[in-house]
Amino acid sequence: MTRWAMVADLRRCVGCQTCTAACKHANATPPGVQWRRVLDIEVGEFPDVQRAFVPMGCQHCDEPACVAVCPTTATRKRTDGIVTIDYDLCIGCTYCVVACPYQARFKTPLGQFAYGDQPTENEAFREDEARREVATKCTFCVERIDSGLDKGLKPGVHPEATPACVNACIAEALAFGDIEDPDSNVSQLLARNQHFRINEEAGTGPGFFYLWDRKRDAT
Ligand code: SF4
Ligand code: SF4
Repeated sequence: MTRWAMVADLRRCVGCQTCTAACKHANATPPGVQWRRVLDIEVGEFPDVQRAFVPMGCQHCDEPACVAVCPTTATRKRTDGIVTIDYDLCIGCTYCVVACPYQARFKTPLGQFAYGDQPTENEAFREDEARREVATKCTFCVERIDSGLDKGLKPGVHPEATPACVNACIAEALAFGDIEDPDSNVSQLLARNQHFRINEEAGTGPGFFYLWDRKRDAT
């Protein structure tokens, strides 16, 4: 069984927000809707403090709080771990927006574009009208994954089958792959490095892992 997951190496991320821009470009999300964010935080206690940049988005949880509250079954989880939204079934009630412990969901406004009420060339090409006035979030670029798999490509290895943010990262801080495959890039990264997941206590089993330090016995 496959379980797609994302890994962010917090030792490498420089907070440039290229992934944020790549997501905006790839998905033509409207103003105020950020499927990818990069938080700028301070960790430690003075004088031993450090700045860290934390890429955030939908965590494609094992037990998604958004699925449990959706009254129309618009939000579902696939067997490969990707949490999807059927825009035709979504009634825009925003229960899921409130329930998500990661603030990953946004209700999209009606017909707003980056520079007013007319789409840019990219928005006209990529914007999906079905996505207006409904709940939206990071999809792990599921269309790229599915079409890549159909072509025999490997998500996380071949760019055409990999989420846009991972391809765009200037620091190779982001990785994507199958954590059920012990030889995958993400499994190898998790095996060699200390890692954590955000809001683990919420019990949602996030599919987004953060590397923070090297394991002492790693080679
Ligand atoms: S991060 Fe939020 S929107 Fe994404 S699967 Fe988990 S609960 Fe749902
Ligand atoms: S593109 Fe890479 S380095 Fe830049 S903010 Fe995103 S994750 Fe960090």
